[in-house]
Amino acid sequence: MAMTEPAAPTHGMPLHAAPPFSTDATGALLLGGQTAVSLAARHGTPLYVVDSAAVRTRVASVRTLLPEGIRLHYAIKANPLPELLRLLATQVDGFDIASGGELALALDAGHRGAHLGFAGPGKRDAELAAAIDAGAVIHVESAGELARLAALARTAGQSARAALRINPDFELRRAGMRMGGGAQVFGIDAEKVPAVLAAWPANLTFAGFHIYAGSQNLDGGQVAEALRRSHALCTELAAWAPVADAHLVAQATPLRVFNLGGGFGIPYFAGEQPLDTAPVRAALADIARDHAAHFPETVLVLELGRYLVGEAGVFLTQVIDRKRSRGRDFLVCDGGMHQHLAASGNFGQVIRRDYPVWLARDLAARGDTTFTVCGPLCTPLDVLAREVMLPADVGPGDILAIGQSGAYGASASPAGFLSHPPAGQLLV
Ligand SMILES: *Cc1c(COP(=O)(O)O)cnc(C)c1O
Repeated sequence: MAMTEPAAPTHGMPLHAAPPFSTDATGALLLGGQTAVSLAARHGTPLYVVDSAAVRTRVASVRTLLPEGIRLHYAIKANPLPELLRLLATQVDGFDIASGGELALALDAGHRGAHLGFAGPGKRDAELAAAIDAGAVIHVESAGELARLAALARTAGQSARAALRINPDFELRRAGMRMGGGAQVFGIDAEKVPAVLAAWPANLTFAGFHIYAGSQNLDGGQVAEALRRSHALCTELAAWAPVADAHLVAQATPLRVFNLGGGFGIPYFAGEQPLDTAPVRAALADIARDHAAHFPETVLVLELGRYLVGEAGVFLTQVIDRKRSRGRDFLVCDGGMHQHLAASGNFGQVIRRDYPVWLARDLAARGDTTFTVCGPLCTPLDVLAREVMLPADVGPGDILAIGQSGAYGASASPAGFLSHPPAGQLLV
């Protein structure tokens, strides 16, 4: 048997971007002015923490990209934490929701009526009825859903605002998750839209179009191109739109919306660059200019999820055990894939790569030892990071912070798996 252990894995890999958080005088990670270590001690681990100042800063930076008149919506599914929604209700112009549960959260947080867009396949009758009641813009995903909505509105004796979600005839190349183009469960195929508009149900108010090409795109040129093409497609299809009632046009709430999607990505993995927003700004300026000339009664909406909150949040987990097995050093933590599926690489990633992992007591620590960071589940899938460089003395009691965890965290994880308690969630 060989007595020398294999060498640690070698690292030619580019580094993660610098953490977007400040530190105290000792280098400890600060969130909302408190150390992550003290938050973990007070609130317990595992714990998601979202920094409200980082969210505000990000929203403000997005506003600088938007010409006058383009509205910014937050897609609640990225992170539905009620405290975060209350903050965002004051920062954005509306919420995009995708279930009756998200509708209730949106109403609780203080957005209502035409400031809500309700998309998603498979909306149940009760969800549609609640959305009609709330006056939300319902983004219809199929001809069948449009007929069902019309029948529900008739039964309720109410009118309803229906926008058509369009499955475009183009796709957002290189998007992390493609949600438009080709055969899709999302939206009505663009070529079928004129026929659907021609048979528009008399008791529904036509409220515009919605196009969502895909998520997590880090290429600013491609995001810009998708926005331009989405707007061009809305413009083309608007020729078939039912004629608007003049008295509705005069109302203060916008009659119609072109929701152009978003898909702005954030850098999760070593070597990824933040989105270059210059082409996006230029595209939005062109779109807004063209739009104002042709559709003064129609509002433009951009809907963003992870870009607004993803980098503002961390996942704090405590090291429970440290062990060495056949040349590899393991840190076993109290948080795992059941609370943070995305970091474990099991939330739609094609290639498993590591999220940034920081030592909370020393944010800048890069260290000299390579660790594999695992959760407590009895499955080899429960790996939070495969190769993290940390100081050699890291061990039980230390708090690790996983970055880029403000979106698709707790609510996108199989919390019931293995019956551990859920992670705490905190806005500071
Ligand atoms: C998920 C989703 C979003 C948000 O995606 P992000 O990548 O978090 O920005 C926006 N719009 C629709 C229709 C979605 O399904």
